[in-house]
Amino acid sequence: MTESGATLPLPRFDVQLAAPDIAPWRAGNAGIPGVMTFRADRPGPHVALFAATHGNELAGVVALDRLLRVGLRPRRGQLSFVFHHLEAFDSFDPNRPTESRYIDEDLNRVWAAEVLDGPRQSRELKRARALRPLVDRVDVLLDLHSMLWPSDPLILSGPTARGRDLALAIGAPPTVVADDGHAAGRRMMDYARFTAPDGDAIAMLVEAGQHWAHSTVDVTLAAISGLLHRLAMVDPHPALPPPPIGPSRFAEVTHTITARCGDFAFLQSFRGGEVVPRRNTLIALDGDQEIRTQYDDCLLVMPSLRPSRGHTAVRLARFIAPEPTTRRPLDRHE
Ligand SMILES: [Zn+2]
Repeated sequence: MTESGATLPLPRFDVQLAAPDIAPWRAGNAGIPGVMTFRADRPGPHVALFAATHGNELAGVVALDRLLRVGLRPRRGQLSFVFHHLEAFDSFDPNRPTESRYIDEDLNRVWAAEVLDGPRQSRELKRARALRPLVDRVDVLLDLHSMLWPSDPLILSGPTARGRDLALAIGAPPTVVADDGHAAGRRMMDYARFTAPDGDAIAMLVEAGQHWAHSTVDVTLAAISGLLHRLAMVDPHPALPPPPIGPSRFAEVTHTITARCGDFAFLQSFRGGEVVPRRNTLIALDGDQEIRTQYDDCLLVMPSLRPSRGHTAVRLARFIAPEPTTRRPLDRHE
């Protein structure tokens, strides 16, 4: 199934990455296929890195495969490497690279308890149900994604202050966006224990760049490195880039624009990460309805240049200086 559901033909995308051979990790070592997990002697958080939640997003798979091959292990706590949608990943075809995002339904739209506990059946729900015991246990989850359309990399932090603080501390990508998810269903990062205001568990999602660009692997590894170093999970390792330094910026999604018409159209080929300087700028038409920015310096989050009806076309976000938290960031996991 393709990602945009577009009726118009998509442009040709350059596929620079090849799907790695993940045969050594396929059976897993924890009783769940595609899950490799390692425990250190010292106590610490359980950090899980998820790749291929969407089957055609290769960069996360390349990154995890590389770290497993060099034998990266946690110095404390537990570190899990998860190849999420094995079946969709297996169907990846570089000649039709957009077609293996999922099989029956989007695996990143099923993470509501009523859906997981409900009667619906799909290949994705079967996989989500198999992984749920792990997702119920992890302290910090980083879901490694990439994007179809040109866009600056970013981290989605979820709605909580603890998610925001950790995402900002990772340092790469340097743009952190808090959002409420999609009308079409709950993402894994929206699963209840990660969004509960009084909980401890944190899930973040990295959008590291274009699906099949070499540079997306580099950004993915930088994000993993930033997280693992920040949580003191690893010693410096040649396979991990030095932990990123430098300021991150934070924006909050104010409007999620869902396409209501099949002919939703942007007025320009906006790039994700673009900042529209003026309030009330017309950016798109959804049938007769005008889509305008609501404030100055509006950040466009992942515009989908060919959205289908009922799917997210773009999110509008406003930069804000995060309020200082009363407790030291991340102390729950230190
Ligand atoms: Zn994705």
